[in-house]
Formats: sequence, C-alpha cells, structure tokens
Amino acid sequence: MKTHVLVVAGSDSSGGAGLCRDIETISALGLRSAAAITAITVQTHDRVEQVQPVDPALIAAQMRAAFAANHVGAVKIGMLGMAGAIDAVAAVLAEHATLPMVLDPVLVSSSGHMLLQADAVAGLRSKLMPLCRVITPNLPELAALTATFEAGDADEAVRQAGLLIRDGACAVLVKGGHASGRQATDILVEQGGAPTPFSMMRLAATMRGTGCALASGIAAGLACGQPLTTAVERAKRLVFERLVKER
Ligand code: PLP
Repeated sequence: MKTHVLVVAGSDSSGGAGLCRDIETISALGLRSAAAITAITVQTHDRVEQVQPVDPALIAAQMRAAFAANHVGAVKIGMLGMAGAIDAVAAVLAEHATLPMVLDPVLVSSSGHMLLQADAVAGLRSKLMPLCRVITPNLPELAALTATFEAGDADEAVRQAGLLIRDGACAVLVKGGHASGRQATDILVEQGGAPTPFSMMRLAATMRGTGCALASGIAAGLACGQPLTTAVERAKRLVFERLVKER
C-alpha cells in the first residue's frame, strides 16, 4: 500500500496556501496525501474573506477514516483555527504517537488575517507541540508562541526556540524568511544538540504558502524514513526551486 501523508489543514480557495499547497508538495515528492479539513477559507491572494471552522468531531472523524483507509507514514498539521480543533486533533494523534508529525503553527495569513484564535495558542503549545517531531514557526509565530518580541538576530531566535524545547518540543525549525540579509537561513534547534543552520540565497520573489509547502515537504521526507536534517534540506530545496520558477 502506498505511503500517505495525512494533512490536517485548512482549505484555501485561491490555491495559494493550505491544503492545495500541501497536496501539491507531497505529490511532487512522490507520495500520496490523505486529508482532514479543519476549516474552509474563502480567500483571494490578497485577503481572507470568510473562515468556516469545521466541527471538531468531524475533524476527528476525517482523521480516523484517513488512518483506517491508508498506510499513513507521517502527519502534517497546518491551520487549526480554534481551541476545539486542537483538542480533537491532539486526541486522535495521541493514538498514533509513534508517527512522525510536523506542526506548522499557522497563526496569521500574510494578508494579516488571524487564522488561529488568540486563546488557542496555549493549547497548541501544551497539547500538540509535545507530540510532534518538529515544529516550523517563522519569527513572528515563534514570538507569539513564546509570548516575547520578534527575534532580531539568530542568537535570540535560538533562545526562543529553546523555550519551546524546554516545554516539550522535540525540535524547532525557525524559518528566517521574515528576516533580512543576502541569505535566507532557517535554524534547526534540537534537544541537547548544537543549532543547525540551513541557508539558501534569498530570492527577490514572493510566493504564498511557502510555510505550508516546507512543512509538508518535511513530513513527506519523514514518511520515507529520512532523518530530520535530510528531510529539512530536501524540503527547503523543493521550495527554493518553486520560488525560482515564480520569479
Ligand atoms: N490559509 C490557509 C488555509 C493556510 O493554511 C495558511 C498558511 O498555512 C494561510 C492561509 C496563510 O498563507 P499565506 O501566509 O501564504 O497567505
């Protein structure tokens, strides 16, 4: 049976981010996707017009059916929207605790719309983070998760990631796309190890859904049994190649 990545995420009608981007990425890496939709969003590339959360019981039922139907090799978690969704997702994933899981802590769209209610951040940190092999915040998300200011340099970003590790995260990949400089550097911080930087030339291109694609790419790599650093490296290269085509 072909290995699937279970994507637990919101839909985006524009196709720029969310579920479409996830499936596209997983497919580019040769794997199949199964899906549990957490929210239906009405979006163009410039704005979020509507968000319809899916009932938490329906999210859990989609996940259970996806597990029953397929060989799931990894899980990618994206937009969750509300605290109820986090509880439902964490409860199902606790039944599959040995699977590699990648959490993209989606908080706000690039157009500025909140995609996770503020009171749900604590649940993301306490209930989902400890289940995951890696979480992939950008600098504003890392600041929100640690209730601090956005890191101004790599040392501060590593320090903030350390706070999440102390709270039970296994590894944190801090995405440097929001920083400046000639290189776009992501830093992987793991429990007990030295931080590992992953650098790529910064491109004068923008593309929506790069965070979704990176997390899905990492999940696909982990589903194939790759070590985390290899999965990160390959997913980053895939996103970079997509960005080159967008220029
Ligand atoms: N919409 C959905 C459903 C998402 O999952 C995400 C990010 O993960 C976004 C929007 C935000 O993407 P962007 O910041 O590229 O607009």
